[in-house]
Amino acid sequence: MTRQRAKHSPGFRVPDVIAQKRDGQALSADTITALIRAYVADQVPDYQMSAFAMAVLFRGMSVQETTALTLAMCASGRRLRLGRRGGPNVDKHSTGGVGDKVSICLAPLLAACGLRVPMISGRGLGHTGGTLDKLEAIPGFRVGLPFKQIERQVRRHGLALVGQTRELAPADRKLYALRDVTATIESIPLITASILSKKLAEDLDALVLDVKVGRGAFMKTTEAAHALAHSIVHVGHGVGMHVSALLTNMDQPLGRAVGNALETREACELLLGSGPADLLECTLALGTELLLATRVAKRAAQARQMLKDALASGRALQKLEAVVKAQGGDPRVVREPDRLPRAPHRIIVQAKRGGFVHDVDALAVADVCLRLGAGRTRADQDIDARVGVWLRKKPGDDVRAGDSLAEVHAASAKLGQQVAAELADTYTLGPRAPASQPLLLARVGRKSSTKL
Ligand code: URA
Repeated sequence: MTRQRAKHSPGFRVPDVIAQKRDGQALSADTITALIRAYVADQVPDYQMSAFAMAVLFRGMSVQETTALTLAMCASGRRLRLGRRGGPNVDKHSTGGVGDKVSICLAPLLAACGLRVPMISGRGLGHTGGTLDKLEAIPGFRVGLPFKQIERQVRRHGLALVGQTRELAPADRKLYALRDVTATIESIPLITASILSKKLAEDLDALVLDVKVGRGAFMKTTEAAHALAHSIVHVGHGVGMHVSALLTNMDQPLGRAVGNALETREACELLLGSGPADLLECTLALGTELLLATRVAKRAAQARQMLKDALASGRALQKLEAVVKAQGGDPRVVREPDRLPRAPHRIIVQAKRGGFVHDVDALAVADVCLRLGAGRTRADQDIDARVGVWLRKKPGDDVRAGDSLAEVHAASAKLGQQVAAELADTYTLGPRAPASQPLLLARVGRKSSTKL
């Protein structure tokens, strides 16, 4: 079976590695490194790697094994070289939620506070686009910068908002595509190594993780979210990065906008000083983690004040303008979000009766946006940046019959009308104001977890 013998490691047999994991044994760091090297060199066929991923999904991996996998996947590509002269390098990663445009708000805020943010984001698979899709709603904006340009831009502006390059953790690119079609995404060690290998390649000092929990999130329960957060925090520290995690509520959409251009608009509005309270709260909480982790601030109150000053002074807005310009986009959009592309049809969802909004199901809103064309179910699908939903009313708001609950932004009037009827049904109203739901649920650090 010479085909299964990896050139890099004499005596290394892939079926033995799969069998070891299948039987619940721990793999050595050398074995994991050899397997990843051989896989990237096309010496391990996809059917063997699929079997390996499935064995990991069922048997798990220790922190040591996951650390070795992370390092091996990172070493499969290049690492950014940012140096430390311009300040510590940081990033935020979200597990993804409905209306989650935090990255577009947070990255310029952090850069305006003296941190450097080589933010490498993804495209969305599922209901709405990812950060890259939202940024691409800005006319001309390019997310595909070469390595050298990312490095230059971070040195110059303290910020780059880009997509994963070919050079960055190619093992993850290959393995993730395989996991996607072999039902092996939902493995905590594989998710941990996938996320951290890319973050390690960004040359980061600190990372904050936003683990969304609830109906509109990948993690439906706090237990599952805690398990993922613990894994990433511990492995992150093992590979030399300060990592902490916040668990945040995703039963309701974050902010009022869902859909790519609409979300970019809302992010710009936040930087202009008029964003929704939940989006601001989430952004400040995540930013505080990074300012403390890098010791740029000593106390949480100081960190929050720094972020608020960066917002109120317009420095964060200027950072975003500079970066949009540097990446080929129209910087006027940042102060004049009306310049973003707009859908031709806007349909108002009216309240049939009065009361208080108790619930707007994030998953139902996301489904509606997917039908409008805001998201994709296959990686090669196009999305329509213009379409989506603007929620005029959210839980806690009082409503009178006839008030606008939401606006549907659609490419076709017929589809817009259908979707508007569905959206009306996702609203639950009651006679009295509901108890408010906490947005920030828990913090997971290396030494302790705290309920917030
Ligand atoms: N996001 C990633 O980057 N990798 C995973 O495995 C899951 C989510």
